[in-house]
Amino acid sequence: MEQDQTSIEFEKALAEEAAELSLRLRELERLQHPVWVYDLDNARILWSNDSSLQVWQSDSKEELLSRKMGTDMSVSVSRRLNQYKADFAKDESAQYTEIWTMYPVGEPVTLNVVFSAYRLNADRVFMFCEGSIDKTADAENLRSSEALLHTSVHISLFSIAGDPLYRNPAARSVVSGANNKIQDHFVDPDLLNQLEDPAKDEIQAITSVNTVNGVVWHDITARRCHDAVSGEAAWLISEVDISKLKATEEHAQFLAEHDTLTKLPNRNYVSIYFQQQIDKMLAEGKAGGLIFIDLDNFKNVNDSLGHDAGDQLLVEVADRLRSLEKSQYSIARLGGDEFLLLINPYESEQHFEAIMQNIIDVVSVPIVLQGREVQVTPSIGVAVFPNDGTHILELMRHADLAMYHAKETGKNDFAYFSKELSEAAESKMTLVSELRSALKGGQFETFYQPRVDVSSNSIVGAEALVRWNHPTKGMVSPDGFITACEESGLISELGKVVFKDAIIAQRTWAEQGHDIRISVNLSPLQFNEEHLVDDLLDIVAEHHGNPNRIELEITESVLLGHDRCIIDKLHRLVASGFEIAIDDFGTGYSNLAYLHRYPISCLKIDRSFVNSMDSAKPIIELIVAMAKLFGLYVVAEGVETPEQLEMLHNFYCQEYQGYLFHKPTDFSSFNSLLIQKDIKNAA
Ligand code: C2E
Ligand code: CA
Ligand code: CA
Repeated sequence: MEQDQTSIEFEKALAEEAAELSLRLRELERLQHPVWVYDLDNARILWSNDSSLQVWQSDSKEELLSRKMGTDMSVSVSRRLNQYKADFAKDESAQYTEIWTMYPVGEPVTLNVVFSAYRLNADRVFMFCEGSIDKTADAENLRSSEALLHTSVHISLFSIAGDPLYRNPAARSVVSGANNKIQDHFVDPDLLNQLEDPAKDEIQAITSVNTVNGVVWHDITARRCHDAVSGEAAWLISEVDISKLKATEEHAQFLAEHDTLTKLPNRNYVSIYFQQQIDKMLAEGKAGGLIFIDLDNFKNVNDSLGHDAGDQLLVEVADRLRSLEKSQYSIARLGGDEFLLLINPYESEQHFEAIMQNIIDVVSVPIVLQGREVQVTPSIGVAVFPNDGTHILELMRHADLAMYHAKETGKNDFAYFSKELSEAAESKMTLVSELRSALKGGQFETFYQPRVDVSSNSIVGAEALVRWNHPTKGMVSPDGFITACEESGLISELGKVVFKDAIIAQRTWAEQGHDIRISVNLSPLQFNEEHLVDDLLDIVAEHHGNPNRIELEITESVLLGHDRCIIDKLHRLVASGFEIAIDDFGTGYSNLAYLHRYPISCLKIDRSFVNSMDSAKPIIELIVAMAKLFGLYVVAEGVETPEQLEMLHNFYCQEYQGYLFHKPTDFSSFNSLLIQKDIKNAA
C-alpha cells in the first residue's frame, strides 16, 4: 500500500517537473533537430520536442515520457551517465559533444549529441541534449567513438600549448578541473619537457599525475597527431591507472626488504641501502661505523620460554633500538637475534663508545616474558669505515668478527675490529679445512688414560681422548682443535670416529679378559643431531660392542636447557645400557640438587679442584658426600701427586685419573699396561 502511495507521489512530482519544462522550453518545440531533456537521477526523459520522437521511435510524448530507461541499461551506459552527473557537478557551464549510438527499440540510431547541464531549481539538474543525425559516420568511426566512450582507458587530446581539447568519460572521471592544462595534469617536469620537445613523436612513461583522488600512477602513451576540428598539431594521450599495481609492487618491495616480525629493514635492504649511504659518506670524505649486535643467551629464552616469548623479546629489543635511532643511525635486523646499526658519521672514539654504552644500557633493561623477568645483554662488534673496509659485506664480516670477540671475552660488551681478529679468523678457516682433510685421511688417533680404583690402585677403566697425528706438527692435543670442530660441525663425524675406536678397544680388551669400562666424551653439539642415539647404536652393533661397559661423558651445559629432545636422547641412551657421567663437574652451575632428575651415574670432579686441593678441600668433600647421597660414584681428574691421592682416599672418592698413574697413551701402550696389571696380579 505504502509503496504504491510513494510511487504515485513520485510520478506526480515528475509530471509537475515535466509540465514546468514544457512551459519553459515551448520555443524549442518547433526545432527541426531532435532536442530532449533527460533526468539523470531517474533515467527518464522529461521533455522532448517532436523531432526527437522519431529518434526515440515513439508514437507519442506520453509514451516516451513514461518510458523507464533504466530498466535494462548496461553497466557501461549507466557508468557513463553517472560520469555526466559528475561532469555537471564540476562545471555546470561546460558543453560536451559526443557521438552516441542509441538503441531505443533495439535498432541502432547514431547521433552527434551536444549536451550540457540544465538546472530546473536548486536541487534538480537535468541533461539537455541536442542531436543531429550523423550521416557521415562510417561503421569504423562509429565503433571507435563508441569505444572511446566506454573504455576505462583515459583518452585526452591537448593542443601543443597544453590546452585541453577533448577528454573521454574515463579521463573526465579523474580530472580535477575541466580546464586543467597538460602542465596541471602531469607532475614530472622531465615528462613535461619531453612534451615540449618538437623532435618527439611518441612518449611512453609510467608517471605520476594529478587527479581528483590526489597524485596517482599512470602508464601513459602520448602520440603527436592533428586535431580533427582545427587541423592543428596536438597530443593524443592515453592513460591507464596502475596505482593498484604500483601499490602491490611497493608492498612486495617492502616485504622483500623488511623483516615481518620487527618491521625493521632486513639483509636485502642493508646490502643495497646501507651500501648507498656508505658510498655517499665516503664521497663526502666522511668516516662512519657499522655496529653488529648479537643478543647473549637468546637461545636460552627460546628453549626455556618458547618461540613466542623469543619473538616478543626480539620485537621489544627492536623497539628499544629504534628509540635510540636518531637521524644519524640506521637500524636493521639481519635475522635471528642479530641487529645492525649504521652510524653516520664517525665523530670520535668517545662518541662511538657512548653510543655502544647506550645500546648496552637500553637492551639490558629486564623485560617481563610470560610473567617472568628476563634480562638479555648484547655483545657488540664495531667496524669503522673506510679503515676497516668500504664494502657493506666486508664491513659486516668485520663487525661480526669483533662481536664474536666481545662474546668470547665475556659478553655484554663491545669490541672493535682489528687486523689480528681477521688473521685469527683466517687461520681458523685454514684449521677447519685442514681438519676436514685430516678426517678424510684418518689422521685422528684415540689415546686412552687409565681410570684407577682409589683403594686398590688398579685399572678399572679408561677415558678415550682423541689426538691429531699431524703430518708435520706431530701429536696435536684436542685443546687445539675441538672448538674448531664444534664451530664447523665436524665434531659430529670426529665424535663417531672416537666412539668407534672406543667400542673396538672395549671389545678387544674384554676378549682378552679385561672387561674394563671405557668412557667417551660427547660434545654438547652432538646432542643436536637428530639421529645421535641410532648412529651410536649402529656403531655398537657393527663392532659387537657392549654398551654396558661404555660411559658417555657430557657437560652440565647439556642439561641446562632442559630441552625435551636432549633429555629424551639421554633416557634412550641409558635404556640402551650406556652410563652417563658429568664431566668437569664443579666448573659449571654445579647444582647437585637437580642432578637426581637426570639419568646420571657418575661425577668427574674437575682437575682444577684437585689441583688446588687445600682451598678446594671442603668442596671436594661436599661433592663426594652429596654424590653418595644420590647414589653416584665420583672420579677425581688430574691427580698428579701422592698427597692428592691420599686425600681422595680419605674422602672415600672411588676412582681417579691422572699423570700420577699414567698419561693418556695409545692403544698398544695401554694394552701393555693391562698385561702388566695381569702380571702384578699373578705375582
Ligand atoms: P677432559 O675430558 O677433561 O679430559 C681430561 C684432560 O685432562 C685430558 O686432556 C687429559 O690428558 C688431561 N689430564 C689427565 N690427567 C691429567 C693430569 O694429571 N694433569 C694434567 N695437567 N692433565 C691431565 P686432553 O686429552 O688434552 O683433552 C682435553 C679435552 O679435550 C678433554 O678434556 C675433552 O674435553 C676434550 N676431548 C678430548 N677428546 C675428545 C673427544 O673425543 N671428543 C670430545 N668431544 N672432546 C674431547
Ligand atoms: Ca672427559
Ligand atoms: Ca674433565
